[in-house]
Amino acid sequence: MARLLMKLHSKILPSCHIRVYSQLREWCTSPSQAAGEVRVRFAPSPTGHLHLGGLRTALYNFLFARSKNGKFILRIEDTDQTRVVPQATQMLETMLLWAKISPDESPTVGGPLGPYLQSQRLHIYHKYIGKLLENGSAYRCFCTNMRLNWLRNDATRRNETPKYDNKCRSLSFTKIQELQRQGVPYCIRLKLEKITEPFQDLIYGPFLYDVADHEGDPVIIKSDGYPTYHFANVIDDHLMGITHVLRGVEWQMSTPKHLLLYKAFGWTAPLFGHLPLILNKDGSKLSKRQGDLHIEYYQAQGYFPEAVLNFVTDIGGGFENREHSELLSVEELARKFDVSRLNKNSCRLDKCKLEQYNRLALTKCIKSPTELPLLITQLQNLVQNAFGKRLLSSAVQARVFSTDYLKTVLIMNEGRITHLQDLLKPEFTYVWIVPDHLPLDQLPAITHSHAEVLETVLEVLIATSDNFTKEHIVEAIKCVGKQYGLKIHVIMKLIRMTVSGLKEGPPVGEMLFMLGKDTTVERIKHALYILQN
Ligand code: GLU
Repeated sequence: MARLLMKLHSKILPSCHIRVYSQLREWCTSPSQAAGEVRVRFAPSPTGHLHLGGLRTALYNFLFARSKNGKFILRIEDTDQTRVVPQATQMLETMLLWAKISPDESPTVGGPLGPYLQSQRLHIYHKYIGKLLENGSAYRCFCTNMRLNWLRNDATRRNETPKYDNKCRSLSFTKIQELQRQGVPYCIRLKLEKITEPFQDLIYGPFLYDVADHEGDPVIIKSDGYPTYHFANVIDDHLMGITHVLRGVEWQMSTPKHLLLYKAFGWTAPLFGHLPLILNKDGSKLSKRQGDLHIEYYQAQGYFPEAVLNFVTDIGGGFENREHSELLSVEELARKFDVSRLNKNSCRLDKCKLEQYNRLALTKCIKSPTELPLLITQLQNLVQNAFGKRLLSSAVQARVFSTDYLKTVLIMNEGRITHLQDLLKPEFTYVWIVPDHLPLDQLPAITHSHAEVLETVLEVLIATSDNFTKEHIVEAIKCVGKQYGLKIHVIMKLIRMTVSGLKEGPPVGEMLFMLGKDTTVERIKHALYILQN
């Protein structure tokens, strides 16, 4: 169509008609379709928190845009004002940025084809509805709520699916004028046509749904003048130059309706792909009310954005030969993304995978010279809040909060923890303070000569001077063990319990090295003091 107009333009239209031509062109082709640039969008309604399903839609659109050097747009669909939750838009934008999904155009960033908030575009919808009324693709419907309710009840009584009977399609011009003059409220409906050809779903392949067979003509402008989702969505996708629509499969049945709207306007439609349902592990449907599926929840629980993104793409697919034990950065995900590899089967959430990805992300941060200082600061705050009041002397505080100590703690526990917060769990208490209930009464069961052994260990460790390395610590302890005829695991257990209160845990060499010489010596002295008094 656009090419045809171009031809028409060059051959027939004189220059004074250029304005007319560009108006026509606007009706037919979106700017970016003409430019060949990929433009995709995430179009949430601001009705609550960003949910895992929403994040998946946003992410795949974003990856698609990045993989094609295109643009990713955030549009807020807030025309149903009764469902709008205050602050929801802001929360959505904040969470997308947290997840590193940054829109190229959005209500906040702005852009050339805004506004990006539908409630600020009402004048646009009004302009475009005129076009459909003019060309006969839409009509005014004056049916009262009472009549519509009656239709619904009647159909239910006959065990049929309720649908509007398209009565007002056939109102005469004079009747319409008369009703309008009387001020009878009306909505505007789209005339559905029979659909015989399937559309090509980018994910599911050919999809045929003859909407007219199942539904009455849908309302596109409500009686309060607000557009419905279908109308505003299509107008905006067109005007914003959207080339591909990737959205949840719950919208698949709406797509034929949207395609009819494109046809009514004479516009080229974008390509559509629908993402399958995400299910809980037990196969049940996800509910927006599940608190553990909000992105804010993941953030608050200390999950890394990269872990969440890898988790989502692990479920949804889109990659060839994906190594599941590998954490990909957003850039890598974008580089490797292939829309034709998206899963079409409903996918189940396996939270263990998220834990696995978070462990990988934490390890990656610990290893990164730029991320590690941020982790150290976060850990400092966490420890301050959890144990600050119990770190009695300023010398101990200085030791525990020193960057060197926190760094050693992180490096030594890399791979053992999934979240930074794990370091506050009971089994890590010893890292920060002398545990409250040291099980010193259980030491005699390990060896009768426990106190003597500990005294010797203390002497030997003090004598390690500057050599307080893992190897030296282990060597020194082994020697003491031999001296008392104790097996290595026995003396190690004795020391582990004395220092940390743990019966099982990390190797003692690592544990003492991490605590450092001063703390180790203090802990053993403290235990001996209790044992002897
Ligand atoms: N506003 C719709 C939603 O809340 C957008 C659906 C679409 O992407 O077309 O999901």
